[in-house]
Amino acid sequence: MSKNKYQSKQDRKHRVFAIIAVVIIAAMIASLLLAGLTGCGLQTASASDYIDRTSFYFDTVINIRIYDNQDESILDGCMELASKYDSLLSANTKDSDIWNINHSDGSPVTVDPDTISLLDTALYYAELSDGAFNPCLGSVISLWDFTSEDEQDHVVPDSESIEEALMHTDYNSIIIDSDNLSVTLSDPDAKIDLGAIAKGFIADKIKDYLVDNNVHSAIINLGGNALLVGAKTDDSSFTVGIEKPFSGSGEYITTVSATDKSVVTSGIYERYFELDGTIYHHLIDPSTGYPTQNSLYSVTIISDNSVDGDALSTACFVLGPEEGMKLIESLDGIEAAFVYNDYSIEYSEGF
Ligand code: FAD
Ligand code: MG
Repeated sequence: MSKNKYQSKQDRKHRVFAIIAVVIIAAMIASLLLAGLTGCGLQTASASDYIDRTSFYFDTVINIRIYDNQDESILDGCMELASKYDSLLSANTKDSDIWNINHSDGSPVTVDPDTISLLDTALYYAELSDGAFNPCLGSVISLWDFTSEDEQDHVVPDSESIEEALMHTDYNSIIIDSDNLSVTLSDPDAKIDLGAIAKGFIADKIKDYLVDNNVHSAIINLGGNALLVGAKTDDSSFTVGIEKPFSGSGEYITTVSATDKSVVTSGIYERYFELDGTIYHHLIDPSTGYPTQNSLYSVTIISDNSVDGDALSTACFVLGPEEGMKLIESLDGIEAAFVYNDYSIEYSEGF
């Protein structure tokens, strides 16, 4: 019998927690062998050196780890922020700002200032990437199911449905009235989906909160997107592992040493299904409605703000190696590592 989406999500949640538990145990063992490596935010230091909290938001596992403050109430505050933004920005939660806009039949909707700010940034990156990053792709995204545990859900939508959905993906139909805190989706059949940018925005908000609470050494890990707060307590850099695509064991293909930076990866190896030898993954080419076809497995972006890294990692993947790297080289303060499907890596000039 086919499972419903809620059951699949619960299964996924349990599976992801199981994986995290394995990774934590592996990290503890690894810490005996390898001092100082942080992979996807997992610091291999002894537990007494930090406080941390793991939870499940945004359909993924998140972990916040603080090294220079033992106040557990700060972690409570981080999780409250995660909960607040999950309720505000999820396209799937009834009465979130995004849900309300998507179900407004073209009428203006009053929203939170944070929603306005994030949509503004999303439209900026839509323009910058010539629509490769498209925050108005919900009609197409909803035709696909890349996360179900049930193979029966792994279906390639028929081309008529894709063609029809593609007619409702113009991001210019998102009309923002900042003065009145209102958003109008002028195409009633269009749907906003901020899955490619909102985790970065939320990580930045959590970082602001930590700094306001006198935390200057921490790692915010939202589903593998790492945002570093300051440096280690001895002032040395954190080291973040970049996952080797399809390794399935938390193996790293390379590492990044950094202080106070965001390290965000978009890849095809976590949300995908395989059918008749073809991989169908979640990074959609807005010009076709199908998974982007190119020689990349993943793109990692290093930036100051995580919202920028999140939007750019998706944008660059969809743009492909040449156009993607050209975009990165045109931007100040942004570096990238592109992992190809032969596991070679191309770095931006200042990496
Ligand atoms: P990214 O590259 O950053 O994002 C890829 C995602 O963005 C895709 O999965 C797709 O949704 C969308 N996308 C694909 N192609 C494009 C494109 N060309 N332009 C713009 N966007 C594109 N996921 C669920 O499955 N169920 C949920 O209930 C759910 N709730 C969420 C609630 C919130 C508040 C947030 C922030 C996210 C939620 N997500 C949910 C999404 C999920 O956390 C991430 O989108 C997903 O893990 C992929 O993110 P990524 O960082 O791996 O990849
Ligand atoms: Mg992204």
